[in-house]
Amino acid sequence: MSTSLKKVIILAAPSGAGKSTITNYLLERFSRLAFSISATTRAPRGGEKDGVAYHFLSLAKFEGHVYQNDFLEYEQVYEGVYYGTLKSELERIWALGKVPVLDIDVQGAIRIQKQLGDKSLSIFIMPPSIEALKQRLLKRQTETEQSIQTRIDKAEYEISFSNQFNAIVKNDVLETACTDTANLLIEFLGPDFTK
Ligand code: 5GP
Repeated sequence: MSTSLKKVIILAAPSGAGKSTITNYLLERFSRLAFSISATTRAPRGGEKDGVAYHFLSLAKFEGHVYQNDFLEYEQVYEGVYYGTLKSELERIWALGKVPVLDIDVQGAIRIQKQLGDKSLSIFIMPPSIEALKQRLLKRQTETEQSIQTRIDKAEYEISFSNQFNAIVKNDVLETACTDTANLLIEFLGPDFTK
């Protein structure tokens, strides 16, 4: 696989649909994938280190990057909280001869797909049902009724955009969803990618 191809994999899903688990599965299985570290203005959660899951930036720094056109895309995912993919992050990964995996929100995913066209493979991870999603969020026990309802409403809105993605993977059975996603990657990147 030539680095000049500069391809990207984009995964998006409603919260609780299993996106992080599938992303971690792919990163473990394919050594030529690399997680694209987004920039965000949200505060690190317990134990999160800067430069691992995210580059944690102040709003002023984030805005500086916006003015300098450093982002491929950025989005206000939650009120007052910004997330974005820095062009320099993708360049860093391509320079390693790897393919970036972007774990980003639905709007950001669609925007990048429009920009990169056939250089990108966008995959929407579909929860089995709204009811199953609710049960998963309840199991986490980290959220209130109200915030679960907010997430459910958001999930329904996000699902309405799923037909704009290159592929939809239904996460009914996690193992199957993982292998289905892996097969889509192999098809997109070619068999050499797995070596
Ligand atoms: P969290 O704060 O829970 O880690 O992530 C919140 C949401 O922001 C998730 O849906 C995640 O996929 C999304 N997100 C993370 N990085 C980016 C990014 O660079 N751009 C966009 N548009 N969304 C992102």
